[in-house]
Amino acid sequence: MKIGPHPSTDLSRFTKSENELDVLYGLPREVAFCKMCNMSNQQPMSSNEYAHGKSSTKTTLSFDEEGVCHACRFNILKEDGEIDWDERERELIELCNKYRKSDGSYDCIVGGSGGKDSAMQSHLLKYKYGMNPLTVTWSPHLYTDIGWKNFQQWLHVGGFDNYLFTPNGKIHRLLTRNATINLLHPFQPFILGQKTFVAKMAAQFNIPLIFYGEMPGEYGEKISHKTSSYAKGTEAAESEGFSLDYLHGKDIRDVLLGGKAIGEYLDEGVAMADLKSYLPMDPDVLHRKGIDFKYLGYYKKWVPQEAYYYAVENTGFEANPLRTEGTYSKYNSLDDKVDGFFYFTRWIKFGVGRAMMDSAQEIRNHHIDKEEAMALMRRYEGEYPARYEKEFLDYISMSRDEFLALCDRFRSPHLWMVKDGEWCLRRTPWDDMGSAV
Ligand SMILES: [Zn+2]
Repeated sequence: MKIGPHPSTDLSRFTKSENELDVLYGLPREVAFCKMCNMSNQQPMSSNEYAHGKSSTKTTLSFDEEGVCHACRFNILKEDGEIDWDERERELIELCNKYRKSDGSYDCIVGGSGGKDSAMQSHLLKYKYGMNPLTVTWSPHLYTDIGWKNFQQWLHVGGFDNYLFTPNGKIHRLLTRNATINLLHPFQPFILGQKTFVAKMAAQFNIPLIFYGEMPGEYGEKISHKTSSYAKGTEAAESEGFSLDYLHGKDIRDVLLGGKAIGEYLDEGVAMADLKSYLPMDPDVLHRKGIDFKYLGYYKKWVPQEAYYYAVENTGFEANPLRTEGTYSKYNSLDDKVDGFFYFTRWIKFGVGRAMMDSAQEIRNHHIDKEEAMALMRRYEGEYPARYEKEFLDYISMSRDEFLALCDRFRSPHLWMVKDGEWCLRRTPWDDMGSAV
């Protein structure tokens, strides 16, 4: 589907001379692509979602003086011999020995959907390291058939106890609509809920050890490969680039959900009890209960494609029979009908689409090379997720016309221009390659 500017869009913002073009979200004005994986320097890093409003600025993926991104450097460290993976496995066994329980109670907790990563993580812990994990799931907005099937397979073929939590659907729809209108971020309510859900369940069931999967350094967060623990939310943890997003004494009425202050929701008659699932827990509770947070990716070398093969073999995981729109892959992020719009809206805001993300990761893990990635991006990057469009638009009570007009308001002029009546990026890695030849 070709997308041109909406009739309501002010095109004068996009036709100024290059150094006068507006730059949104605090993105770098100069667009650059990683010399190794093609990833754009416009790629945002994670930030505290409770402070995410219309005028928030982003921290973006950092590049070194050789033009190589932090995610590539992190991946090189995994295999350049500096990390002794046998030693790391001994550390994992020691950790498991410390927490393993023999009275039948749960000794660790793994959150996930039954996708390849949570499937491998939970299966290794239970069947290789003899732990008794509880698995917990924060429900997608709208399950896809393949997502529901893989979730069931995880439990029935893989063999796990699980709690599935589905937040109040009316409130979830309201937050999703607001997050789309205010932030063009339809996935934010899922992220807000999921981020603290596992910790809340650990506290609820007195489970002392939380396992997260891959380390955030894999996709470029500035966290050292020597850090085994997930940050718990102190100021120091913020500087590590990833945390549980505590409120730090902020007035609850000022906290933002979907870019709108909680005070406004309360004034409109939404009950505080209905917003509770989206708010962080008290860090003192975690401290008092002595809950430990670890990345399994610190102990085991994380290769996404190997997680896929592992999950196929051990938990009955199936790739999607249909190619995922916007990319070429069939096994990443499959369970939510909103997924496609999460990636599509990032493409609008930052010029980073799903094919770029998938291919950059596969280059870093040596499955494809840079030229293959260029061809895949040229073909699929930015594809409109038409398959679940109707369900998504019904969910947020919006027409296609309204949605596309909204998208235009979130396009940063330094990234986008109109050519032959169609939106296109001013710079792409494949155009750069063309001009270099
Ligand atoms: Zn890179």
